[in-house]
Amino acid sequence: MNHADSIRIGSALEQTGYTFTEQVDNADLIILNTCSVRQRAEDSAQGKLGSLGPLKKKNKDLVVAVTGCMVPPQEEGKRPLYKRFPMVDLFFDTLDPQSLIEILPEPGCAPEPEQALSVGGTGLTIQSKIGVTAFVSVIHGCNYTCSYCIVPLRRGKEKSRTIDEIVTEIKGYVKRGVREVTLLGQTIDAYGHDLPGRPDLADLFYAVNQIEGLWRIRFLTSHPKMMSYKMIKSVADLPKVCEYFNLPVQAGDNAILKAMKRPYTVEFYEKLAATVRETVPGSALSTDIIVGFPGETDEQFQHTYELLERIRFNEVHVAAYSPRPGTLANTYEDNVPLEVKRERLQAVERLQEGIARSYSQEFLGKDVEVLVETREKGKWKGRSRTNKLVFFDNPTGTEYDGLDWTGKLVDVTIETVGPWSLVGRVAGTPAVRKGRLLPVFNAEADTACEVDLPLSIANK
Ligand code: SF4
Repeated sequence: MNHADSIRIGSALEQTGYTFTEQVDNADLIILNTCSVRQRAEDSAQGKLGSLGPLKKKNKDLVVAVTGCMVPPQEEGKRPLYKRFPMVDLFFDTLDPQSLIEILPEPGCAPEPEQALSVGGTGLTIQSKIGVTAFVSVIHGCNYTCSYCIVPLRRGKEKSRTIDEIVTEIKGYVKRGVREVTLLGQTIDAYGHDLPGRPDLADLFYAVNQIEGLWRIRFLTSHPKMMSYKMIKSVADLPKVCEYFNLPVQAGDNAILKAMKRPYTVEFYEKLAATVRETVPGSALSTDIIVGFPGETDEQFQHTYELLERIRFNEVHVAAYSPRPGTLANTYEDNVPLEVKRERLQAVERLQEGIARSYSQEFLGKDVEVLVETREKGKWKGRSRTNKLVFFDNPTGTEYDGLDWTGKLVDVTIETVGPWSLVGRVAGTPAVRKGRLLPVFNAEADTACEVDLPLSIANK
């Protein structure tokens, strides 16, 4: 989310004449885009702010601005921050880079082109640095009140961007070579309910699916209570929407879910997971788990463990509970010893490694469609539609030898597998997936084009 916001803020500033610099010492403007989902992220942002003090002393004209989760939406909430961090010129709302632009030198005028910009916090990326994939925030904030979570307090209520605005942004990325977008929201499946006409995530998928030159659409993060059958069906029906669902369950015990203020039961969640798998065959399901929530007994943790064994998620992101000041759970006694939290976390990791390995083995000898993102350690690296990391070698001695594969779709025959990644060789066939309009690699033109395929082939 922060990565996407950094790009948007960077783009707004580029339009006023600022350019990106990798060297923080050269910057005339430094923006720290902060995360406070965990205490460690907040501590790291504060440490970074402290390190900017000397730069500010060295360059009196340096502007330091802070945005992201550390900045509360209301003005009065920002006041204590100005006192605590006097080296910061502006704390601004991520959705409102205009307030930043207004305080820059010569407000209302374009700054000198040589003025440099640093967009920091979660990676340094702006327009000129966009690669094959891009993140696009489509809904900000959250209307839920999970007892452990700081997000609603920091990001406020849900606010959706319009379909037109999102489509325009993505078309701009596609012109610069982006082939895959990940639509982002804390509760992405709540998208649109606050907009006139109440469009939903499926409507957004249909609109984005029509963008020419875009090949893949991903989406994160879904809330189990907001996921509708229409949305699940649209993933099955639309050729560009990847068959990957991130549906955080958080715990496999109903009493813990209640204490977490997650508004569903384990039984509800299991039905939803089954519906996803039945409706979208071959789809991958990932989840998030918190272990060691206040009061979690061995038996309750065992219920979570057994849920993971039953559902066999493709990916599990597990975290040990840590209290966040300001949340309801912070008023509960954090009574699960650190050692027990660690043991539970490691038990989930071990279980998941075995499950992930067995899923990987299913790929052996099969062709997997890969969108190539970059070259790493002498191999080309990309992802399957179900988000598996795939590596392959330069196909020496073939017609593809020496080709720059970045941004290309390729079928890779999988030869060796590990739990988290697959390795193979170029299959030499164009990528063929569901639907009629498909991106097909065209080696002669060294590009990819969209062609109409007969339905019989498209549905193979
Ligand atoms: S749904 Fe719950 S965990 Fe997710 S952002 Fe909202 S409050 Fe936080």
